[in-house]
Amino acid sequence: MNIVLLGPPGAGKGTQAKQIAEKFNIPHISTGDIFRKNIKEKTPLGITAKEYIDKGYLVPDEITIAIVEDRLKQDDCLDGFLLDGFPRTIEQADALDSVLLSINKKLEYVIDIQVSEDELIKRLTGRRICTACGASYHIIFNPPKQEGICDICNAKLVQRPDDSIETVKNRLDVYKKQTEPLINYYKDKQIYYGINGQQDIQKVFSDICSVLGSGNK
Ligand SMILES: [Zn+2]
Repeated sequence: MNIVLLGPPGAGKGTQAKQIAEKFNIPHISTGDIFRKNIKEKTPLGITAKEYIDKGYLVPDEITIAIVEDRLKQDDCLDGFLLDGFPRTIEQADALDSVLLSINKKLEYVIDIQVSEDELIKRLTGRRICTACGASYHIIFNPPKQEGICDICNAKLVQRPDDSIETVKNRLDVYKKQTEPLINYYKDKQIYYGINGQQDIQKVFSDICSVLGSGNK
């Protein structure tokens, strides 16, 4: 089962990805996670990626594509994979097709978690992160027991600069401009499935499962 998961920041992709990967026993491949891990461990890839990110540039496609290709060739992808955070653009989608073709695979499902802009802004600006352990909270949806304090380690919670209203709006605009063309791209290939992401997390998941369960590919 070869899947791409689409959805704007704040759509709840991470949560759904985890559940899909578990239920269908396929690896969850997040390009963001791969970059973060490499940057943290200061690998050659991490160092290169960080240079771009620090300058405010996106990591060039050829690097991202090489990482995805390498990952998809690993044994645990034999029965399928769930790609999250890639592709983001038509160019990347074309590159992914070529990679998959070269290893005799084919994309079967593109699951798009759809959430309105108002709701996304509400979700994203309410996020609070623990400065010590990285735990994530939300002032409306998942508040800590004590305001501003981490339940797990008692450290201070902060709003990441990324989650300020201006930055959030900007991120959503970038996502829309870059990634929305992918909707038609995958609709043309008849593998696009839009999912209502403005429902209870479990309902979103069961909607995704009905799509994945019905295909039998
Ligand atoms: Zn903490």
